[in-house]
Amino acid sequence: KAGMANSKYEYTRTFEDPRRLLPNTYIILRLDGRSFSTFSATQNFKKPNDPRALQLMNASAAATLRTLTDIRMAYGVSDEFSFLLPRECTLFDRREDKLVSTVVSTFTGWYVFLWQRYFGGGDAAAAEEGEGESLRAPPSFDCRAVCYPSVGNVRDYFAWRQADAHVNNLFNTAFWTLVIRGGVSRRDAEAELRGTFAADKNELLFSRFGINYNNEPEMYRKGSVVYRDYRIPEDEGAAAAEPTLTEPLEWSEREGEEGEERETTAVPKFKSKTQKEKERKLAKKARIVTEHVDIIGDEFWQKRPWLLG
Ligand code: ATP
Ligand code: ATP
Ligand code: MG
Ligand code: MG
Ligand code: MG
Ligand code: MG
Ligand code: MG
Repeated sequence: KAGMANSKYEYTRTFEDPRRLLPNTYIILRLDGRSFSTFSATQNFKKPNDPRALQLMNASAAATLRTLTDIRMAYGVSDEFSFLLPRECTLFDRREDKLVSTVVSTFTGWYVFLWQRYFGGGDAAAAEEGEGESLRAPPSFDCRAVCYPSVGNVRDYFAWRQADAHVNNLFNTAFWTLVIRGGVSRRDAEAELRGTFAADKNELLFSRFGINYNNEPEMYRKGSVVYRDYRIPEDEGAAAAEPTLTEPLEWSEREGEEGEERETTAVPKFKSKTQKEKERKLAKKARIVTEHVDIIGDEFWQKRPWLLG
């Protein structure tokens, strides 16, 4: 390597312009399946929710958390997943292109790698039998990074995604019930639902099809949260031990110059290498769990303070 390092061509590296994401902010990386309207049709996803596809998304997200220990949690619905990195994250020196490309390609790799486990198919014998769904085209995902400075912003971000999931799923459930069970054309179903409120869709599902929307699976209505759980499982005896990562980042006061008005500037106290190594080991050991619960209210976050700590 040393011999190659100083070639006359190396100056081209200076054209690189790596963007570093704003320090001391939460980073959320959101990926989304490219043209999954087409992909889901090609792969015969069941409408409106194919549980195999959702479980494959969740498994790929969990494997991504397993691979990248800096990620605290992820939230997913449909063909998207959002990954949360803590404010003190220094992975890849917070270089945006490194973070975005590594997360999205790790996830995509797992999605393809795990496909057969969830969809079956794959080998010639299975294809012969018409079993499962073998992968017919390579799926791909886009990904973007956004920095959020406050806990409130992060909470609102996840609330936005979950509220969106609810609105979309109620619409899709009403739409596909009209089409599949009601024998209504897609165009007519679309027209019938135009301008309706949530209550109208609930009523339509109940009065015409006997479906109580609230009894639909939680995974469909609430999406999926995948996170590191530092608590010791109840069945192992000890009640939820206090997790080590609950303490918020410490803040130190900067003293003003002599004679100057004492000014308080928030300066994050960065963690030492050994502290970070300790946390990485803990993160590696923590269980990764998947739940379909409300993340708009306070309860989820209050019970898992290490996620935003
Ligand atoms: P883009 O490339 O802009 O994201 P897209 O076709 O992927 O285009 P989205 O808004 O991301 O558009 O919509 C995702 C599509 O994938 C929806 O049409 C949805 O019906 C389908 N889809 C995703 N997951 C499932 C699933 N589990 N079951 C059935 N359909 C799904
Ligand atoms: P990073 O994540 O920082 O890129 P890395 O281990 O991938 O770490 P690289 O500098 O990218 O580091 O080096 C790629 C490595 O992969 C080299 O060690 C090289 O020996 C190995 N490698 C890549 N392609 C081949 C190949 N075709 N045959 C054998 N080894 C290969
Ligand atoms: Mg290389
Ligand atoms: Mg999109
Ligand atoms: Mg998409
Ligand atoms: Mg989408
Ligand atoms: Mg490499």
